[in-house]
Amino acid sequence: MVDLDALRHNYSVLQSLAPSARCAAVVKADAYGLDAGRVTGALREAGCTLFFVATPEEGASVRQLLGPSPSIYVLNGFQPGLSEMFARSDLIPVIGSLDSLNAFGEEGGGVYALHVDTGMNRLGLTVEEARSLALPRGGELRLVMSHLACSDVPAHPMNAHQLERFRTVLEHFPGIPASLANTGGVLLGPDYHFDIIRPGVGLYGVNPSATRSEPFRPVFHVDAPILQIRRVAAGETVGYGARFTAAGQRTIAIAGFGYADGLFRAASQTGSARIGEIAVPFAGMVSMDLTALDVTGHEDLARKAGRVQFYGADLGAAADAAGTIGYELLVRLGARLKREYLGR
Ligand SMILES: *Cc1c(COP(=O)(O)O)cnc(C)c1O
Repeated sequence: MVDLDALRHNYSVLQSLAPSARCAAVVKADAYGLDAGRVTGALREAGCTLFFVATPEEGASVRQLLGPSPSIYVLNGFQPGLSEMFARSDLIPVIGSLDSLNAFGEEGGGVYALHVDTGMNRLGLTVEEARSLALPRGGELRLVMSHLACSDVPAHPMNAHQLERFRTVLEHFPGIPASLANTGGVLLGPDYHFDIIRPGVGLYGVNPSATRSEPFRPVFHVDAPILQIRRVAAGETVGYGARFTAAGQRTIAIAGFGYADGLFRAASQTGSARIGEIAVPFAGMVSMDLTALDVTGHEDLARKAGRVQFYGADLGAAADAAGTIGYELLVRLGARLKREYLGR
């Protein structure tokens, strides 16, 4: 279930946290698995006109969804031979190396953004390259950006370090709009906001930091049917590998949600789902299409509900149980899950 009203709420929260900046939306990976079509439509209604995707293919499909006017930036940059694709869909490459900048110029140039690396060592020109760059003719530089490595940890010294380096880069690009902050960066405060903020995960209701409470509303949860409820006697086991042994008589609910749907098998030992406010722990290994839950003491509730909720407000704990982060839970949600949308 995807709540588009909550998505738009989160967009306006992010925009109000950075009132002097424009709030873009990162919609790569099919809007973090929530469907780029529904998500971009809702965000556009909320006033968003700037979108970031990872690849030119994603850019082309977002362009089809949005029509001609919004700006679409491609974070993975420009590779030789792509000029026609960028031009056809009116995409703006975020160029992250001198080679790529040269190739872009040789293929005719156009509007582009520059990515400068300030400490992540992933994509981007070095600070020195950026500061000695002679801007190519035939190109129109629309944005200078960098990306924070540790914005989910507010006290991490990398944040201030990257901010300082980004500022030295910007001295070389007076008058060009600048962007540094992802969701975590927005929450670091106004020093990090510059002209454009680039949140992704916060829009989708995911808290980037385990140590802070954040103002985002949950946007999605998985509502799985309870297919069967059974009694398991003391000493019996549940599921593959017989990894769960009933210490006494237990009541087990079998939910129709498994690793084919994106549930992490790695969460088998410590994961839980919820029926209303009640947490019900996994019993044994998550299997492809099913997960057994220990609902002992809550059988009536389970029967009445008929369904069980995964993720939602306890997404952070669910990610911990799987040894990962909310981002990954989100983008791994399987194609088989029927996405239902609330609001518009
Ligand atoms: C994915 C991404 C973002 C969005 O990050 P969130 O942590 O999801 O807000 C912003 N900028 C870049 C360069 C990214 O790759």
